[in-house]
Amino acid sequence: MADPVGTPVPVAAAVGLDVGGGAVKAGAVLLHADGMLARAARPAEVRVRHRLEADGEPLTALAAATAREQFDSVRSRWPRVPVAWGVSAAAWIDPGTGRSLFSPHLMGWRGRPLPQDLARSLSRLTGRPVADEEAGTPPPRSVTLPSVVNDADAAAWAEARLARQPGHDAGHLRSDRMVLVAIGTGIGGALVRDGAVDIGARGMAGEFGHMTVDPSGVPCPCGNTGCWELLVSAEALAARAGRASARTTIDDALAGQVECRQAVQETGRWLGRGLATLAAVLDPSRFVIGGGVAAAGELLLAPARVELARHLPGGRYRPVPSVTVATWGNSSGWVGAAGIALERAGWSVATATAD
Ligand SMILES: [Zn+2]
Repeated sequence: MADPVGTPVPVAAAVGLDVGGGAVKAGAVLLHADGMLARAARPAEVRVRHRLEADGEPLTALAAATAREQFDSVRSRWPRVPVAWGVSAAAWIDPGTGRSLFSPHLMGWRGRPLPQDLARSLSRLTGRPVADEEAGTPPPRSVTLPSVVNDADAAAWAEARLARQPGHDAGHLRSDRMVLVAIGTGIGGALVRDGAVDIGARGMAGEFGHMTVDPSGVPCPCGNTGCWELLVSAEALAARAGRASARTTIDDALAGQVECRQAVQETGRWLGRGLATLAAVLDPSRFVIGGGVAAAGELLLAPARVELARHLPGGRYRPVPSVTVATWGNSSGWVGAAGIALERAGWSVATATAD
C-alpha cells in the first residue's frame, strides 16, 4: 500500500485500535474521494495481559499511546487531513454511547465510558482539545470521541465490506447475509446483512459460543453444558491434541503430525455441527471463520463443511452456505474499527486496496 508520488490527498484518515485480552493492535487508513481505503502506516501490536487488572487506566493509556504513534505517522504526511478514531474491544458495547457493559477479559474496562476515557487520554498525548461530546466529522485540530464497537462486529464489518468474496471480481463486496465466527480463547461472532452489522437489540447479538452443541458435554462456566466454544476454542483444540497451545497444535498438524491433524479435524467436525445450527436459525449465504484457530485453514474447514452439510436441516433441498477463512486475519479488528469510525463521521467507504 505504498503511496507513490502524485497520490491524491486523502479526504480523511482514521486510526483503528483493536483491544483484546492478549494484545493491543493499531493501524491507520487513508480514505480517498472515491471511497477507497488504503493503509497509511505500518500497523503496531503490543502484547499484554489485562485479565486480572481491575484498573482500566493503564490499559486506556497504553491504547492511546499505541494509537498516537499511528496518528503521528498520518499527521507527518498529511497535516491537515481530519482524523477519526475507531476502537474495537473484546467487550459488550452499548450501541448508543460506546460504553462497555461487560467484558470477560478486559476487567478494567467493565462499565466504563470508553469514548470519553480514550478521548481524554488522546487529548493529553496529542496536545489537542477534545472536540465535542458527539462523534462527528473531526476538525483537524482536535480529538473527536472515538467510535467504540465490539471486536467481532468490527471484524465482520471488515470482512463483509472490504474483503474480496470468492466468485466476485469487482472488489465491491457486500454479502447478503454473512456470519463471522471468530475462534480464539472463546468464540466471537457477528451477523452482517447487506453490508450492515446486525448487533441485536442491545448490542449483544452474535454470542454464538454458548450455544449448546453437545447436551451430554462438560459443564461451562456460563451455566450450560456442552457449549460450542468448549468444543472448538483454542484451548479445546490444544487439549484434544495434548499440546500446550493451539498454535503449536496447528503448526504440528500442518507439518503432518498425526495426533495434531486428528485434533484439528475433530475440532472442525464440531465447528460444522455448530454452523449447521446457526444456518438453521440465520440462513446465511456464507460463513467466514476468523480468529487464531482459523490458521489451520482447510484442515479445519474441510471436515466442518462435511458436518455442516450433513446436519443442515433440510440439507438436500437447499444450498449449503460456503465456509471460508477470514481474509483480513489479524488486522480485521482495527481495520473494521477505523472503517466504522469513518462511516459514523459521515464519509462513505466503498472498498479497500489489496493488502
Ligand atoms: Zn457456555
